[in-house]
Amino acid sequence: MIVVEAKPFAEIARLVSPYRNLLLVGCGACATVCFAGGQTQAESLGLALRLQRRVSGGTLRTASVTVTRQCDPAFLAPLGEAVAQAGAVVSLGCGVGVQQLADEFPEAWVIPAMNTRFAAGLTADGTWEERCALCGECILDLTAGICPLARCAKGLLNGPCGGTREDGKCEADAGRPCAWLMIYERLAARGRLDLMAVCREPKDWRGGRMGGRRRDGK
Ligand code: SF4
Ligand code: SF4
Repeated sequence: MIVVEAKPFAEIARLVSPYRNLLLVGCGACATVCFAGGQTQAESLGLALRLQRRVSGGTLRTASVTVTRQCDPAFLAPLGEAVAQAGAVVSLGCGVGVQQLADEFPEAWVIPAMNTRFAAGLTADGTWEERCALCGECILDLTAGICPLARCAKGLLNGPCGGTREDGKCEADAGRPCAWLMIYERLAARGRLDLMAVCREPKDWRGGRMGGRRRDGK
């Protein structure tokens, strides 16, 4: 899933300051799952913005709605009337959701309330951890399902770097396990240490973020 986190309240308040009538749009998918941009957060943000505006001597009206997925225009089309009545739209979705709203309603001013952080998985201790760097050329078959790009501090394709700590933690971050030690141990457990000897060739980054715009199937 995509992990988002709320922008600082002062920043959101500044972004909406020119407007007196806001539609806050939550996202029912990732943003809800990571407790940042669902209906509860949309309503809370609306309340906080109204209070802040009142304290500063102004007035503000807000309405909030949450769609199943902000990244899918099929779920945005029913918002047309509410968007038309709003002075601005505040998205609590990821950056994709913000852009999808802006595409769907080009006459509306869409304001991001979230910062989009990374593609993550849920860990056993209940935190979200980056698991994919969206490289566009997956090599998890060589690394026992552990992504060295996202989970090794240096993003090494051929590791470990030699700095793994005695306790198995990363030399660059004592709070995280060495990804390459995890890869080694999982390959060993599966009888595939032969893959440690495979030199992973430099990646073709053209399919990733460095290679320009990506489109499915093209
Ligand atoms: S190798 Fe690339 S596509 Fe596969 S998990 Fe890692 S970053 Fe994502
Ligand atoms: S110690 Fe392990 S995780 Fe950290 S940079 Fe080196 S190989 Fe990567």
